[in-house]
Amino acid sequence: MAQDDYNILDEIPMALEERMPVWRDNGEQLQINEIFYSIEGEGYRVGQPTTFVRLSRCNLRCFFCDTEFDSFVEMSVVQVLEEVQRHSANWVCLTGGEPLGQNIILLCRVLKDAGYRLHIETNGTVDPDPELLELIEHWTVSPKHEEIASGLTRITELKYIVGKAFREDQVEEGRADYIYLQPESSKPEYIHKTLEILLRHPDWRLSCRIHKVLKLP
Ligand code: SF4
Repeated sequence: MAQDDYNILDEIPMALEERMPVWRDNGEQLQINEIFYSIEGEGYRVGQPTTFVRLSRCNLRCFFCDTEFDSFVEMSVVQVLEEVQRHSANWVCLTGGEPLGQNIILLCRVLKDAGYRLHIETNGTVDPDPELLELIEHWTVSPKHEEIASGLTRITELKYIVGKAFREDQVEEGRADYIYLQPESSKPEYIHKTLEILLRHPDWRLSCRIHKVLKLP
């Protein structure tokens, strides 16, 4: 196939054709998949103790996704805070699924008022409410789409999954403070591909999932 004919959709059709609408209400009740304590295993904050709040549902269906996010319990913001307070971490990472699919403004206000530092991991397809850009300190965007939502004006790190379809010319270097490349599923061929790309881009960084190596949650 000629390079001009290349289309990422040919390789990751599930990522976009099965795109779901996001839905947001007043944010007093949230659909929570799980809340757990672990060590941040990826990207810039690697090694920091963190309480993860995994919100249910995602607007995409990536073929390589290994996260179970469809099941949930309804929790009030106060219940989420109480569960977070059972753990000792200073950082709270909002992940999913797609955490921007639900209205998390109230949750972020309450967590921030309680003294937590907030991190979010989003797939880059959903515009955040501008208030979230102030409340959340650390923004990880892991793009699953060629265009990152224009409302994501504060990106700490762009973390690309390097698989068969990844091309280094997709990297929007000017949008983030740091660029991370993470080999898809830690497969040897994608580790090799990542290391080759890093030879050409010495300012970019390797992200490995150390929580998987250490068998942490
Ligand atoms: S965006 Fe993330 S959580 Fe959603 S389907 Fe893709 S890999 Fe899974």
